[in-house]
Amino acid sequence: MASQQIGSKPISEKPQMTFDELGLSPKVLAAVERVGYTEPTPIQAGAIPHVLQKRDVLGTAQTGTGKTASFTLPMLTLLEKGRARARMPRTLILEPTRELAAQVEENFKIYGSGHKLNVALLIGGVSFDEQEKKLMRGADVLIATPGRLLDHFERGKLLLTGVDILVIDEADRMLDMGFIPDIERICKLIPFTRQTLFFSATMPNEIQKLADQFLHNPARVEVAARSSAALTVTQNVVHCGSKPAEKRAALRHLIDNAADLQNAIIFCNRKRDVATVARSLERHGYNAGALHGDMDQHARMKMLASFKDLSTKLLVASDVAARGLDIPEVSHVFNFDVPTHAEDYVHRIGRTGRAGRSGAAYTLVSKSDQKYLDAVEKLIGKPLIEVSENSTGVPHDAQKDDAKAEADNQSEQPETRKPRRSERKPRRAAPKPQPVAEKASEPTRDAGKTTEPAKAEDSQRARNPKGTNRRKQTANDNVPFAEADHVPAFLLRSVSLN
Ligand code: AMP
Repeated sequence: MASQQIGSKPISEKPQMTFDELGLSPKVLAAVERVGYTEPTPIQAGAIPHVLQKRDVLGTAQTGTGKTASFTLPMLTLLEKGRARARMPRTLILEPTRELAAQVEENFKIYGSGHKLNVALLIGGVSFDEQEKKLMRGADVLIATPGRLLDHFERGKLLLTGVDILVIDEADRMLDMGFIPDIERICKLIPFTRQTLFFSATMPNEIQKLADQFLHNPARVEVAARSSAALTVTQNVVHCGSKPAEKRAALRHLIDNAADLQNAIIFCNRKRDVATVARSLERHGYNAGALHGDMDQHARMKMLASFKDLSTKLLVASDVAARGLDIPEVSHVFNFDVPTHAEDYVHRIGRTGRAGRSGAAYTLVSKSDQKYLDAVEKLIGKPLIEVSENSTGVPHDAQKDDAKAEADNQSEQPETRKPRRSERKPRRAAPKPQPVAEKASEPTRDAGKTTEPAKAEDSQRARNPKGTNRRKQTANDNVPFAEADHVPAFLLRSVSLN
């Protein structure tokens, strides 16, 4: 439930409201009805009335709580009056990643279909020209990642003096990614009189300081942390060996034995492992794809779309996919690695069990991961359910169970080995994931498997045909993704697929 306070004074909890009581315009209420929402989520009930009263809002809420609509719906209502001027957006929404930005744009399209508003998206990896054209037309809503926004500003294509509403979304993720100086700069370019809506899943000191600096007497709206919201997720832990081939064999076993598996996200800590695990699954006949921060924008969007429409059933992902992406109805989450930051566990398993649906999460744990598992259990305040090898069928000696897995281990780089000379050469692009034979509703023991084993290809190197980033990638390879990837530059790098 949401607990609210204004300034430092707590207010008693509000009873469940209806959308009609929030003060939204008839057009927006019609959109809500069209979408089929029957009642506001706690963050929506808590934030929307304040936004409509033009107050600053400090929202502590994670993705999956309905946070996006808590700012898009009242913004649409407020934007019904007024008109955009060329190069001077009326509102600005800052998002840490391109996917999140694109998702917010999607929300405006859905809820704002009757509004005829100009919505512009400024994200990296896409040509400046189209974006400039949109800015020139006048944007009612500008959704941007901080780097690309500042690029446009520096090119003189953008004036931020007309921004009435500023939304800073996923502030703690911005912090993780090193965007805070950019955010501070952007805040200073926007008139002091603006309304600021600030959302973060957690409130570490740096984020609180930022909020204190840029918000005026905000209405605070907090919703229960995801760790308690994810009660619908069965959280299991499976002990396995630490060798990559053992882990991959254990993963396949879990997938094969998972009950009612429709689709799944498999999280790895390292970018390199994302590519390796996806490739290995494909090689074993599963319908799998990869999503991580080194892929160019086009490839990431394509993979995400393919996962959303179930053409790809198993998405192997780094934490870049864990936050914010709205992927409905994921039945299973597999943690190939225990995340090194316990909060990432909560974000990861938050991909399943959404909106009250049930879901299952399995975390593979080897001996060396124990300390990370302890941190996760401490954070969520309960132990994960130990699933014995017998009940899952995970083999006692996974390394021996599959000679092929061992072969994978030979051909897929061991943790410390330097890349072979031949590996630096350009390679062919990865093939499209094979279409699956079975539908989502069909028996699911083999839900992730393709009918034909896909060819093994080195998709990660294929994305980097000239080998120009080879050195950097090798240096990052042994660093957990969460640490290695917190450099905004990776989001801006565009690498051709062919
Ligand atoms: P978000 O936290 O914004 O990523 O939203 C998570 C999911 O909840 C999205 O699929 C939304 O479409 C959905 N959602 C948002 N608001 C509501 C609501 N009031 N009732 C039901 N679903 C909602």
